[in-house]
Amino acid sequence: MPELPEVETVRRSLLQVLPQKKIEAVEIITPGILALGNAAAFGALAGSEITDIGRRGKYLMLHFGGGRMCVVHLRMTGKLLYRGQSEPLQKHDHVRFGFADGSELVYNDTRRFGRFWLCSEGDISQVSGLATLGAEPLDDDFSVDYWQRQTARRRNARIKAVLLDQQVVAGLGNIYADEVLFRAGVHPERRTGSLTEEENVRLAAAMRDILQDAISKRGTTFRDYVDGNNQRGSYQEHLQVFQKAGQQCPRCGATIERIRVAGRSSCFCPQCQQPE
Ligand SMILES: [Zn+2]
Repeated sequence: MPELPEVETVRRSLLQVLPQKKIEAVEIITPGILALGNAAAFGALAGSEITDIGRRGKYLMLHFGGGRMCVVHLRMTGKLLYRGQSEPLQKHDHVRFGFADGSELVYNDTRRFGRFWLCSEGDISQVSGLATLGAEPLDDDFSVDYWQRQTARRRNARIKAVLLDQQVVAGLGNIYADEVLFRAGVHPERRTGSLTEEENVRLAAAMRDILQDAISKRGTTFRDYVDGNNQRGSYQEHLQVFQKAGQQCPRCGATIERIRVAGRSSCFCPQCQQPE
């Protein structure tokens, strides 16, 4: 599932090619992808341009000027792919923006969990989950202080679940939550109320450092993820514990274990990340 670094990499890759391209037609192949807006409303975008591309957490925003935007969530297997020239539709292509210069932006999604919302920039209330997102770890308003205020309200929650809670921190998923916990030396089942000040400082720093590093490596590709130019990421070569159960911890040599926490698989080192 694309997480903050992958979605940010998609944004940056599309920002290199899409702005100032005039939309000629928007084709909705699978109406079920549209959570807000219908084929006619998308069709009415013809004649406008994609003026800018934003991101918040794991959501992308395509801005069209005039206060209109399309919010996209890629969920499990969604891909926004730019093609320099129009190609025949492929299996799992669900939405196509055709541009006046013959190029196109296609939304492809094997599992079809991704969603599009056509809305006004001033009203995101109907985009599920967007208005309630927590702070972005790479933004200035994210601090140890912010993190501690958030965890103070969830003292009995397990840290892994809190890292995955988009209302606390926007953008982390299973890959980066496991990597953050390893970097900070915190066991995934720890209750946030048991964390020391020092551990909270380490967690906040690990969130920033790992996300920044993963963006610079253009995200993690296991199976599906590619950017807007169909390029794979390379952070999978830098992962320390995620999906490495049974392998040696790169720090201490102990065997990495896998457990389930908050319904999600969690990989960690039993030596470097001690339980309470
Ligand atoms: Zn270790």
